[in-house]
Amino acid sequence: MKSEKAGFMTRQVHAGEVEDAFGSATVPIYQTSTFKFKNADHGAACFSGESDGYIYTRLGNPTIDALERAVANLENGFAGIATSSGMAAITTVYLAFLGAGKHIVSHNSLYGPARGVMETVFSRFGVQYSYIDTTDLDQVRRAIRPETTMIYTETPANPTIGISDLKALAEIAHEHNIPLVVDNTFCSPYLQRPLDLGADVVVHSMTKFLNGHADIVAGMIVSASEKYHKMLKPVMANMGCNMDPHQAYMVHRGLKTLGLRIERAQQSAQKIAEFLESHPKVAWIKYPGLKSHPQYALAQQQMHGPGSMMSFELKGGLESGKRMMDSVELILLAVSLGGVESLIQHPASMTHSKISHEKKIEANITDGLVRLSVGIEDVEDILADLTQALDKV
Ligand SMILES: *Cc1c(COP(=O)(O)O)cnc(C)c1O
Repeated sequence: MKSEKAGFMTRQVHAGEVEDAFGSATVPIYQTSTFKFKNADHGAACFSGESDGYIYTRLGNPTIDALERAVANLENGFAGIATSSGMAAITTVYLAFLGAGKHIVSHNSLYGPARGVMETVFSRFGVQYSYIDTTDLDQVRRAIRPETTMIYTETPANPTIGISDLKALAEIAHEHNIPLVVDNTFCSPYLQRPLDLGADVVVHSMTKFLNGHADIVAGMIVSASEKYHKMLKPVMANMGCNMDPHQAYMVHRGLKTLGLRIERAQQSAQKIAEFLESHPKVAWIKYPGLKSHPQYALAQQQMHGPGSMMSFELKGGLESGKRMMDSVELILLAVSLGGVESLIQHPASMTHSKISHEKKIEANITDGLVRLSVGIEDVEDILADLTQALDKV
């Protein structure tokens, strides 16, 4: 790409481009597991790192590399590491930065499996954890121990839409010489660039906004510096949670319309949030674009827009939530988010149904909480569907 300084939408279309023998306008799918060496010396040079030739797709592949360069460019990072899923990106980071006796300070309102894998798997290997509210900086400071090797957060948080102050968290992390890792899935680099605010590593479920079409599961890790990239890359390659070239092609295709999709969904989301805020069956709503959001000012500061994710509480709790889920017609009743289609889910009966009542309360997941991911359909149609579904509650 000609200019690294080009605007976001230009970079989302062109970053990562490769020159191939035929002048292909898109990055070809190098659907191969392995690469021929020219001779024994060339093979040796590839392994020693003297040559940057490709060896084996688990270690690197031109189609995957192109996507890694594109996302790293959009996040203003040093380099990207594509993974088979968002959870593969998260577990790679855990494995690279934690170990027996080490400790993680993490948000208590997180993507469920990011916490679940810590409590059920990493704990068996002696990793210690503190799940606290990272929107409260005092709690973060108090939770740090001499053994703490990373701070991990998600903002806006899943599904409570709580916003953590990334600049302040990065300062706390750096006072202790440990990295701040941010799950940027809810925003994508179009709306929030944690590395610019001081974070060290960003993880993504590219299943969501970056791919955007609900047809691929994929992840990405972007490091701000070579130091962290070098800690992470071999862990991914040795675990074998690499991306497949075809998967990389698909995500790269989706990525090219990221900003357009978000602009459109965000415009609708603002109208929908205002509609829900004044609806008599809605107890409260959290959306970063509403002045009623407790961290509205912080959202304005650290995000480039409020996005298209919102949570609201139905009066009447669990039964109301279930009834609304059973009544939507256009909006898909499904987990996941960030696609072209609007999706709705009810954490108490779905994603967080296995979490104990105490833990749900602690993470602010109430019985009537509904999460909505606004798609790019006509806003009038989304509003009509919400209206008829709420009428049945
Ligand atoms: C979906 C999601 C993940 C996990 O990603 P997968 O691609 O499903 O493995 C992690 N974090 C957040 C915030 C998510 O929404």
